[in-house]
Amino acid sequence: MNEEKIATFAAGLRGALIRAGDAGYEEARKLYNAMIDKRPLLIARCIDAADVIAAVNFGRETKLPIAIRGGGHNGPGFGSVDDGLVIDMSTMKGVRVDSKNRTVRVAPGCTTGDVDHATHAFGQAVPFGIISTTGVAGLTLSGGHGYLARQYGLASDNLIEADVVLADGSSVTASEAENADLLWALRGGGGNFGIVTSFLFRTHPAKMLYGGPIIFDLSDAATVMRWYREFQAGAPEEFYIFLGLQTVPPVDPFPREHWDKRMCVLLVAHNGESAQAAVDAARSALPKPLIDWVGPLPYPALQGMFDALNPPGMQWYWKGDFVKTLPDAAIEVHLAHAETLPSAFSLMHLYPIDGAIHRKASGDTAWSTRDATWSMVIAAIDPDPAKAGQLKTWARDYWAAVHPFDLDGAYPNFMMDDEGEGRVKASYGGNYARLAALKKKYDPANLFRVNQNIRPSA
Ligand SMILES: Cc1cc2nc3c(=O)[nH]c(=O)nc-3n(C[C@H](O)[C@H](O)[C@H](O)COP(=O)(O)OP(=O)(O)OC[C@H]3O[C@@H](n4cnc5c(N)ncnc54)[C@H](O)[C@@H]3O)c2cc1C
Repeated sequence: MNEEKIATFAAGLRGALIRAGDAGYEEARKLYNAMIDKRPLLIARCIDAADVIAAVNFGRETKLPIAIRGGGHNGPGFGSVDDGLVIDMSTMKGVRVDSKNRTVRVAPGCTTGDVDHATHAFGQAVPFGIISTTGVAGLTLSGGHGYLARQYGLASDNLIEADVVLADGSSVTASEAENADLLWALRGGGGNFGIVTSFLFRTHPAKMLYGGPIIFDLSDAATVMRWYREFQAGAPEEFYIFLGLQTVPPVDPFPREHWDKRMCVLLVAHNGESAQAAVDAARSALPKPLIDWVGPLPYPALQGMFDALNPPGMQWYWKGDFVKTLPDAAIEVHLAHAETLPSAFSLMHLYPIDGAIHRKASGDTAWSTRDATWSMVIAAIDPDPAKAGQLKTWARDYWAAVHPFDLDGAYPNFMMDDEGEGRVKASYGGNYARLAALKKKYDPANLFRVNQNIRPSA
């Protein structure tokens, strides 16, 4: 790499350019998932759209592979790249709430917690995911589902405008009024089409919710799962429950007598009238729980409830599927693998993706799956790098056993980098051909390819 070119690039940036060997390099290259250990050549800590434009032009001209980084939470570590250029926007923060028009403008380095904090003061929220340290950018661009998804849709359904730096270094705005095809692609198509330097979201009422976990012993899991599939079919959209098979964390405030027990957990979030009565009705139909911590709480408290249990720096390997139905035979497979969880952190979650998400048609946005009931994730997680192989084997075996009951595709954010093009295609279904055509229009040379890649059409 030509030193003069690097020096000129660095001098033109307002943010820092961090190089291999620099003080701070080791910290700057770290990803949330410690299973991924990439060594980029350069990390450009952009502070504005001008820095992003300069970085895109530099990467393209020097033919360096480019990775785009927001919150750094991506499973396969697409926020970094070996021997390439990381365009790092993690320090580009800033949230402006327009409560009158019910919108919020968000800078690309924000976490969901940054935005929840700002909108909460106005009694509003964007429907993001369930851990507040996740980046808004990567979550939204591939879909984004969480506690408010049944009521208000995916995060990407609520993206109404984006400023985007394209592969040729130009910057455009994508909205329903201009570059509407680009907005369509950004609503689920991932980081394939350009670098978003500003997001505008629609917000919705969410202030105090009635929510939290209800934890059952694994011996009651079959009963709970059968109840859950019936509940899901008839639940009002403001009543969201995701189901987990995992382990009671051996930490306070969990009661010591339950530490390390295998459990089935229902994570409840009711954002409507008569919430307690609705939850009480559910309680009365369920077995006696080990723990019931459901009660009134502010929305950001629910969003951040499990942050401490999910610190950065652990080994993560995950696989997902879209799931339409949960027959008894599938429940049996789930329960068999819950018995063999490879660590106290590993889990299977079923996140509802019906309700408001089903009110859009498959072709309305890049995210095409509008008829699945759940987005499933099998996540094998542990702090010990020596267990990486065991984690992968467990997750793969579990997935192979349960996949025959599921749809072909999965949420792209619940895939590693080893699933193959066929799985990416299956996840976008009938929208894949249009996405490939838009890739050809906006990024014909596939400059942005460190992602669940959509190749430009021939
Ligand atoms: C603990 C944990 C909990 C999670 N919970 C949920 C959940 O509840 N719901 C859910 O939907 N997902 C969830 N996820 C998945 C999460 O959405 C993805 O990991 C996502 O990729 C994280 O985005 P990021 O910005 O933090 O990641 P990064 O690693 O920074 O970025 C990931 C990719 O997004 C793209 N990207 C990032 N920024 C930009 C940008 N400005 N412009 C264009 N492309 C960009 C790039 O392709 C990049 O490689 C969770 C992940 C973790 C680790």
